[in-house]
Amino acid sequence: MNITILGAGAMGSLFGGLLAESGQTVTLLDINDTHLEAIRLQGLRLETDSGDRRVGGLIACRAEQATGQPDLLLVFTKAQHTDKALRSIASHIGEHTWVLTLQNGLGNAEALCRHVAPERVIIGMTTWPADMAGPGHIRSHGQGVVRISSLDGIECQASNQVAAVLEAAGLQCRADPQVWSSIWEKVAFNAALNSLCAVTGCTVGQLDAAPQGVPLARAIVLEVLSVAQAEGVTTDTQRCLDSVAHAIAHHRTHKPSMLQDVLAGRPTEIGAINGEVLARARQAGIAVPHTETLLGLLRLIEARSAAG
Ligand code: NAD
Repeated sequence: MNITILGAGAMGSLFGGLLAESGQTVTLLDINDTHLEAIRLQGLRLETDSGDRRVGGLIACRAEQATGQPDLLLVFTKAQHTDKALRSIASHIGEHTWVLTLQNGLGNAEALCRHVAPERVIIGMTTWPADMAGPGHIRSHGQGVVRISSLDGIECQASNQVAAVLEAAGLQCRADPQVWSSIWEKVAFNAALNSLCAVTGCTVGQLDAAPQGVPLARAIVLEVLSVAQAEGVTTDTQRCLDSVAHAIAHHRTHKPSMLQDVLAGRPTEIGAINGEVLARARQAGIAVPHTETLLGLLRLIEARSAAG
């Protein structure tokens, strides 16, 4: 398969590198020239549980330099950059191109549909972790899964075929018509841990340093899943609460990406997470006070940061 990754940061490079290792033709598109040049000069350094190695044969460039129309376009920018990124490669999205999002948050499917026919869109969720260790260098330890589906949830050849390609790259992927359950559970997890850590500056483990931390995280999970239920999506509340408790107990030094973005003075994905949950809660007439307060606090932090 001819695969283009749009947004080749931590996750895009991890997926691109593993897909290239499994024999696919992969192009990485990004706007981070230092990262792209490092990959062109030395290959992509992948540090995973399978070893520390360099992956060659990747095309790494800006969208303006891209050629051809891929079979699969995998969007891995942060959610707030999707529209701009997709505009930059509009002429490279062919009628045969499948466009897949595995980004966190809600609203990603709608963003893709502003640029691509809905029947070409594949949605999904992944629990694989990845961090940028430096230009051209990705670190990812632990295991994850990928769940994907056509937008309408009807089993289709395309999502089965894409799932097989990701599975063959070791990404533990399967097509799953219930993918919205996984997407919402991950949104609840991120709304709880990412926004709490980003606002407080706590690592995930530090959330149990005061008696208020864990109940706050639990309250946010319950709020988010109540909105999912109002949208007709069935979720497993206990599983979600357990994964939050597990992260607090075992990923103690982890700084969620939203905290990393705050510390670096960058805009965060809060709009796609707490922001989308609040918008949908309002439509459903549900109050989500903790989610809303954290959204407001993070918007203040972003505004202060933008003002210098
Ligand atoms: P990242 O910041 O490392 O990578 C995003 C990349 O997009 C950057 O390299 C950036 O330069 C690039 N980009 C921005 N604007 C662009 C444009 N106009 N054109 C092309 N490229 C552009 O982020 P990430 O951690 O890889 O996360 C990507 C998505 O995956 C997010 O939605 C995130 O929530 C989700 N996710 C991340 C993880 C993780 O462990 N990192 C796990 C699961 C899901």
